[in-house]
Amino acid sequence: MAPHTPTLLEPHTPPSLRTEPHVIVRGEGITVWDSDGNSYLDGTSGMLCTNLGYSQPRLVRAAARQMARLPFFATFAHRTNDVTSALAEDLARLSPIPMGRTFFANSGSEANDSAFKLAWYYHRCLGRRGRTKIISQKGGYHGTTTAAGSATGLEPIHRGFGLPLPSFLKVPCPDPRAPQAQGMTEERYVDHLIARLEQLVAAEGADTIAAFIAEPILGAGGVIIPPPGYYPRVQEVLARHDILFIADEVVTGFGRTGAMFATTEFGLSPDLITLAKGLSSAYAPISAVMVGQRVMDTIAEGSKSIGAFGHGFTYSGHPVAAAVARETLAVLADEGIPAHVRDTAPRLMKCLDVFRGAEAVRDVRGYGFLAAVTFAAGLRGRREGDMGADVMARAVDNGLLLRAVGDTVAFAPPLVSTAEEVEVMVNLFEKSYRSVLAEPRSVYR
Ligand code: PLP
Repeated sequence: MAPHTPTLLEPHTPPSLRTEPHVIVRGEGITVWDSDGNSYLDGTSGMLCTNLGYSQPRLVRAAARQMARLPFFATFAHRTNDVTSALAEDLARLSPIPMGRTFFANSGSEANDSAFKLAWYYHRCLGRRGRTKIISQKGGYHGTTTAAGSATGLEPIHRGFGLPLPSFLKVPCPDPRAPQAQGMTEERYVDHLIARLEQLVAAEGADTIAAFIAEPILGAGGVIIPPPGYYPRVQEVLARHDILFIADEVVTGFGRTGAMFATTEFGLSPDLITLAKGLSSAYAPISAVMVGQRVMDTIAEGSKSIGAFGHGFTYSGHPVAAAVARETLAVLADEGIPAHVRDTAPRLMKCLDVFRGAEAVRDVRGYGFLAAVTFAAGLRGRREGDMGADVMARAVDNGLLLRAVGDTVAFAPPLVSTAEEVEVMVNLFEKSYRSVLAEPRSVYR
């Protein structure tokens, strides 16, 4: 085979790799095909984003119509385009919090960077120039731009760049499986987590902290479902210190948990909500920050002395992406997608139940269409991460695309998947797991 000379610098990939990447060329329903003609069920909705599958004709038509009518007009300096304004109205109607306005960007990372700047601007409007620090969780994922990457609590995102920036602080990951949680009741573990947050706020000084950002369920960090009592207690601490709460719903938004927003599902009351991925079912790049009424009112008043909100992107509210997002919201409503997820998720968990207590399995968990199996290290000399990587590799051989984070293999089927399709995915996963159990060693060692 001719040596491969890469010209694409691939994200989250070692640049030293000289092998050919796996190239996907076509998608239909919940299936994709590679350049060799092999087909795969998409067990993780692309990157937890192609929620409506790969061939939703209404989204294709919405994009084509908008391309033909007005392919671009910006939203800067009080001149905008009609479709972006209409999308903001749609989101205001759907919002799970008392709404101010929506700011648009292009990616989850940009939405989170924008939310931090909104928090900084908010505090400046109140004369609190010292409130600059952002708190997030170890294990949380908020993107990879300089600020969002600093908020992300995963070392591989920091290594190589000298991140995080100094004003980004971390609290422990609210993981009920963490070693610290063992031997504690859930209530005591939540007490412990809240004490750590209180200690951090006291040590840094509340008057230096702008915002706390967290995912309702930690996705990319390995599908971590915090104890139910955790966020209400976090919110109580934040409210007491006037620290803004940013809910990162980039993954959980638009039906993944069985509700339109996890904010509603878990009874949260964030000041800002960041959204991306499912907003357009990934058919066009678009993200958003829902700005709650209290923050918006303060900003609107404070801007009289500070001046314009000096932030935004050429493609903030790109009309083609906005048209696709509007149609996505219409499909979610017309097809009752969140209710379908709520009804079908128990079947996914029932299928995954066979792994509870199985050889080399440490944990099985899930919520809505977001589930995970965590393997134990040690099977025939396997080190940490080997088992997850082995099962993922065998799943590819068996026609199923999954994502492994260390020894955790995540399931996030497209939200349109039927119960039967979900069952087929889990069967392929089980077949992959069984062949790994039978192998004498890891393919990675
Ligand atoms: N926030 C969460 C919860 C995510 O899972 C991601 C991406 O996976 C991001 C933010 C960053 O989004 P993007 O990759 O579009 O910048």
